[in-house]
Amino acid sequence: PKTVGVLALQGDSRNHLSLLADLGVTGVPVRTPEQLEAVDALVLPGGESTAISLLLETSGMLGPLRARLAEGMPALGTCAGMILLAREVTDGRPDQHHLDALDIVVRRNAFGRQVDSFEADLDVRGIDGPPLHAVFIRAPIVENAGDGVEVLASVARADGAERPVVCREGPVMVAAFHPELTGDPRLHQLFLERAGD
Ligand code: GLN
Repeated sequence: PKTVGVLALQGDSRNHLSLLADLGVTGVPVRTPEQLEAVDALVLPGGESTAISLLLETSGMLGPLRARLAEGMPALGTCAGMILLAREVTDGRPDQHHLDALDIVVRRNAFGRQVDSFEADLDVRGIDGPPLHAVFIRAPIVENAGDGVEVLASVARADGAERPVVCREGPVMVAAFHPELTGDPRLHQLFLERAGD
């Protein structure tokens, strides 16, 4: 993509922009429908999904964003961004919007109070070299992924159950953690490989 937008309503957009710059891609913050119109792909960063959902509505971007996603705009959602892109959110606020961009059911804050945040080294399908170091902060998990969804990485929860934490369906990719915090651009690179020219 020529221009990759980073949704900058709330949450961590700056580090995403610098990772895109490291990859030689033009990244621009997106806060208005006009700015959304001008980008070829969009990163939805971590933060607080309920706040971002509300700001999508008040900024007038909710409808245009749904339309772009329905047209096949590539999107990368991380943490809160993954929650926003899901088909269904369990434990969401009743008025929280979900963009239905890929066929996953997501549970918010799913690793429990004892483990608000943790780090893990992940083997991600499609990423070569050493494992990807992943920082999870009040992270969601994927409770259910549809048949068309590729699961690229999983982690075991405290109860031993394996849960997907990186998924992809067509040009839409999601991760439950914060890939922008480690300076490692490989997840963004993997996203861009499917995001077209
Ligand atoms: N718990 C947050 C939410 O529900 C997501 C956390 C994050 O993005 N680090 O939106």
